[in-house]
Amino acid sequence: MIVVLEPGCSLTHKAGIVRFLEGAGFRVQVSESDRGALVGVVGPGAEDLAERLRVMAGVKEVLPVAPPYPLVSREHRPERTRVRIDDVHFGSDEVVVIAGPCAVESEGQLMAAARAVAEGGGRMLRGGAFKPRSSPYGFQGLAEDGLKMLAAAREATGLKVVTEVVAPGDVDLVAGYADMLQVGARNMQNFRLLSAVGGQPRPVLLKRGMMATVEELLLAAEYVVSAGNPRVVLCERGIRTFEPSTRNTLDVSAVPVLRERTHLPIVVDPSHAAGLRELVPALARAGVAVGADGLIVEVHPDPEAALSDGRQSLTLSSFGSMMDELRRVASAVGRTMAAPHPLRRDRAAFLSRS
Ligand code: PEP
Ligand code: MN
Repeated sequence: MIVVLEPGCSLTHKAGIVRFLEGAGFRVQVSESDRGALVGVVGPGAEDLAERLRVMAGVKEVLPVAPPYPLVSREHRPERTRVRIDDVHFGSDEVVVIAGPCAVESEGQLMAAARAVAEGGGRMLRGGAFKPRSSPYGFQGLAEDGLKMLAAAREATGLKVVTEVVAPGDVDLVAGYADMLQVGARNMQNFRLLSAVGGQPRPVLLKRGMMATVEELLLAAEYVVSAGNPRVVLCERGIRTFEPSTRNTLDVSAVPVLRERTHLPIVVDPSHAAGLRELVPALARAGVAVGADGLIVEVHPDPEAALSDGRQSLTLSSFGSMMDELRRVASAVGRTMAAPHPLRRDRAAFLSRS
């Protein structure tokens, strides 16, 4: 925070201001500028003093310092950024729904999910080919074979594809198949990975780390943008709290907080927040109501048989009903959502063959 002093501020007043700030435990640096004398105030909680300082004799104005993430901050760019993938626009009036299985498991599984996503009004297909699993014995994904299946599902449905990249060395491979690269919660502070996805042109879906603050999420986004890629969409996916009844706690307030601090679009992931499929529609509705630009949801044709995150995956039919409810919420808050649309007959035939 910077305190600008009145041009004629007396030495006594200046000393009084400095004494007050140092007494409150802040580091203070006084300098002269063409605006007059400036007092720089450093230390946690400095902004809380602004109101008291504003009424002190000799003080002209109190300015917050720029946030440490200049490129993604609203100060840098007050108008909202739209991240476009052809006709899919994050940051528009439309709430964009991304859905699909946690992991790509087989062509049949992926195609069945993709068809339900497309017919239900989803705009993008998700599915991990590289899975960051907590256990080294968990299913790690089909790697390039999974990427090929995602590309085939895009061909069959017209849905754009987002998939996770877990290592800097895989970025070019994944970007060769996907329309958008996901950086997962566990990798939000993998700074080499952030720079690598920042050095290529595909848009990035950046998930909030399960123990990361909003500021840390914005600093992670700053890594990507400062490496040259401005096409970043942020994702709130629940944070770890003391509450064990859900897998994580959906931080609904992060959406309006982010909206205030950044021009980047924001999506909500109700699946990883809830961990339980029966809670997903309610959290998805909350996400739309609180102003998210999109949702990312896990769906599976046979959740009980899923190789990862089955307990939080919606069945294909419950995805359809959730979408109908979400459309009503979207319209109540002045947003739009894609209508359900049965696939063209040739595409449906192609899908049922696979
Ligand atoms: C996922 O999207 O399947 C995933 C692993 O998410 P997160 O990184 O948020 O845990
Ligand atoms: Mn998952």
